[in-house]
Amino acid sequence: MQLKVYNTLTRKKEEFVPVQPDRVGMYSCGPTVYKYAHIGNLRAYVFMDELRRVLEYNGYKVRSVMNITDVGHLVSDADDGEDKMEKSASETGKTPLEIAQFYTDQFMKDIDALNIERPTVCPKATDNIPEMIAIVQSLLEKGYAYETEDGIYFSVEKFPQYGRLSGINLEEQRHGARVEVNSFKRHPVDFALWKKAQPNHIQQWDSPWGRGFPGWHIECTAMSKKYLGELFDIHTGGVDHIPIHHENEIAQAECWLGHKAVNYWMHSEFMLIDGGKMSKSLGNTYTVADVVKRGYAPVVFRYFCLNVHYRQKINFTWEGLASAKTAYDKLCASLFAHRQSEESTDKEVLDSYRVKFEDAICDDLNVPLALGILWTMLRLPKSKDVYDLALTFDKVLALDLDKVQDVRSAPIDIPNDIRMLAETRLRARKQKNWAESDRIREQLSQLGYSVKDTADGYEIVKK
Ligand code: AMP
Ligand code: ZN
Repeated sequence: MQLKVYNTLTRKKEEFVPVQPDRVGMYSCGPTVYKYAHIGNLRAYVFMDELRRVLEYNGYKVRSVMNITDVGHLVSDADDGEDKMEKSASETGKTPLEIAQFYTDQFMKDIDALNIERPTVCPKATDNIPEMIAIVQSLLEKGYAYETEDGIYFSVEKFPQYGRLSGINLEEQRHGARVEVNSFKRHPVDFALWKKAQPNHIQQWDSPWGRGFPGWHIECTAMSKKYLGELFDIHTGGVDHIPIHHENEIAQAECWLGHKAVNYWMHSEFMLIDGGKMSKSLGNTYTVADVVKRGYAPVVFRYFCLNVHYRQKINFTWEGLASAKTAYDKLCASLFAHRQSEESTDKEVLDSYRVKFEDAICDDLNVPLALGILWTMLRLPKSKDVYDLALTFDKVLALDLDKVQDVRSAPIDIPNDIRMLAETRLRARKQKNWAESDRIREQLSQLGYSVKDTADGYEIVKK
């Protein structure tokens, strides 16, 4: 089946046709490495990985580039606030370099744990400053950018197609109250390509405009062009990148190159927590470490993500993760039984499942449907052939199906009813209902489990 993908730019599912036959270049906006990635961020990278795997399943050789943002991403995605790296440095007393190295290493561990294949190249923004300066200089020479007291800005009015990706209208933005008017800018939506640094700013480089540092958006244009060329196939990111970051990337790249740079723009929807936003103040920005602390293998979180299409919002709850674990364990148990069987299955029957699976993944990555097809296939009489075909599907799903023993999802074997009790106790603690919380602790203890409170939840241990 012909692979189709939804292109945010045209708002349509389109047939995927690569620039070069059999090869695909894809670029994904990578993490800003000033803190641990939360599970919402990781959903975006599970999507990046599914896309790459579907392309590879279709026989393409994929070159995947994901940048590491270690400078220039301000607290607001536009040009306001401190640089996130500088802020973290001043809060911790560490250097931005130390912070970037630490969180990059943590991020790589997280993506490994979730079976996200490492991208072919993960360039760091700070290793590509000369490339960024060259683009800014060229945009200035071509008249698309201007210098102000505090930096070099891109003039959005010079690019009539500005707003095509997100559907924003520049005139409305000029008059609308939503965009802060920076007195240096000619239009409120103009964005910084380069910022002039104050002497106390730690990360700064020489440039034709004095010491300074790059804007966040120019980083992705410089690195995608360097590693994928002037026109590449797919650019991914979360939906929050559509209105500012990617709109800006398109504007600066097309003005610089004189032609379009990306054929397909693909965006993954957000993850909600308990139906709402993730936020530090609500204490619900969970990490992979939190998932593991509560006794779930990271692959269970991957399974949880795969059950919702990447263009739909996904609502994370601990109860939902517990159900995902129950389902995943059943899947593994069934596969194990197929693996043990000495029977075979008719080739035509197997082919019909394979075709349905491939149709699903080629239809804009309908992985939830593909999972459903796997589940239906597992209802066939037990046979090693079914197991073998499931392993072929696992090239896309990456759910460790080759490792099924019996039930292997939990690094520690905590039954769901125990987890649920621990969750109820956590809720009681959040409501400061200490008597109830103590009562449940005692109950858990009698059932053979001890629960330890941590800053972000709890850990359960079998005694
Ligand atoms: P950042 O490190 O902030 O640049 O974000 C990394 C990736 O995570 C980007 O692709 C964002 O679009 C994505 N992202 C941020 N928050 C969420 C969320 N709650 N759900 C899903 N994706 C998110
Ligand atoms: Zn980016």
